[in-house]
Amino acid sequence: MRRRGASLPRRSDDQLRDMRAAGHVVAEMHEAIRAAARPGVRTLALDAVAREVLSRRNATSNFLGYHGFPAVICASVNDELIHGIPSGRILVEGDLLSVDCGAIINGWHGDAAFSMAIGSTSPQTLRLIETAERALAAGIWAMVPGGHLGDIGAAIDEVVSLAGYGSPHDYCGHGIGQAMHEEPDVENRGRRGRGPMLEPGVVLAVEPMLIAGGIDDVHELDDGWTIVTADGSLAAHVEHTVLVGAHGPEILTRL
Ligand code: MG
Ligand code: MG
Repeated sequence: MRRRGASLPRRSDDQLRDMRAAGHVVAEMHEAIRAAARPGVRTLALDAVAREVLSRRNATSNFLGYHGFPAVICASVNDELIHGIPSGRILVEGDLLSVDCGAIINGWHGDAAFSMAIGSTSPQTLRLIETAERALAAGIWAMVPGGHLGDIGAAIDEVVSLAGYGSPHDYCGHGIGQAMHEEPDVENRGRRGRGPMLEPGVVLAVEPMLIAGGIDDVHELDDGWTIVTADGSLAAHVEHTVLVGAHGPEILTRL
């Protein structure tokens, strides 16, 4: 736990050059996975797509081997919120797929996630995905110099709560740099004006997690990784690695 008001690390121009490069690789992985994800495809095949991008860009994975995680992406389907292990599971029309992945360049990390519909899907699924994207955008727009860490969670929570969705208490965003997960926690709830100040050079991974059923409860499957909604309702997870720039937020994990 950080002291309130303790300052957050600020990255130098050289460090940001590597973080932008790592973020760019993550964005390329996302683009390739989105193009490959359709009905009939196994989630393990999407992991292979991501590995190809990493190897083409001479980047390494910060997911593979993380506490023993066996893949370079997390692929979470429908009621799976986060940390789904790629497998022989075949995606079917209407599924909601969330993919999280990252990359390391010269020791610096990027981390981002997206949710998408597989083929055509229900209005309820689309609304959940769109709300997740709006919550992420709201959190990112709060990342301005002079703002506070609590502004991010407050902005995200406003969108999620207003839509009637839930969000787990035990999982959240994080600082990122020479490790994927650094201080501080970037909660998906917060109070405006609270927490350390956001100054130019601060980089955070912001990641709203939405539960369609409106509850906040999740549990872990026997595989020791996959986090599912307790009520079996759909879940969405989106994330960007974002720099507090001198003039506003810069998304590092976007092409
Ligand atoms: Mg992530
Ligand atoms: Mg993350």
